[in-house]
Amino acid sequence: MADSSAERTYVMIKPDGVARGLIGDVISRFENKGLQLVAMKLVQVTPEHAEKHYEDLKSKPFFAGLVEFITSGPVCAMVWKGPNAVRIGRLLVGATNPAEAAVGTVRGDLAADISRNIVHASDAVESANHEIALWFKDEEITSWDLPAAQWICE
Ligand code: GDP
Ligand code: MG
Repeated sequence: MADSSAERTYVMIKPDGVARGLIGDVISRFENKGLQLVAMKLVQVTPEHAEKHYEDLKSKPFFAGLVEFITSGPVCAMVWKGPNAVRIGRLLVGATNPAEAAVGTVRGDLAADISRNIVHASDAVESANHEIALWFKDEEITSWDLPAAQWICE
């Protein structure tokens, strides 16, 4: 059986979250939940890179606007690790549309519009691995022990 404590997810604070000073708030939610930060950097995204990241959405009417938005200012790119990191990341982030996102989630608490929803989190283990490889070189991903790990996962 796969070791789910080694699961990793790609999380990105979008330009609106960075510009609104919400990096710390988002990171705190992931830290408080018990996930482990293993990589992080600020990136000024190129249109080519944004198009690759959102490749599955290229037929959508909002695609051009999405690429323009993601490249409009720096994003905070991160890799978080831990048991069920992908599923937990999606739960912390909340529904895509902030008008439907539960209070207590990043989008439910901090955003109001679907095109300015603060944060991205991978939606499956497969897409997480794909996105981590798209955003980070192997050597940019750290390997360290979370001292509290024994209190977070049996
Ligand atoms: P996510 O995985 O929850 O981020 O949602 P998707 O993968 O479906 O879409 C990626 C991003 O595209 C979302 O986070 C939104 O920023 C944007 N998006 C999705 N649907 C819409 C839409 O109907 N209109 C607009 N303007 N943006 C959208
Ligand atoms: Mg998505």
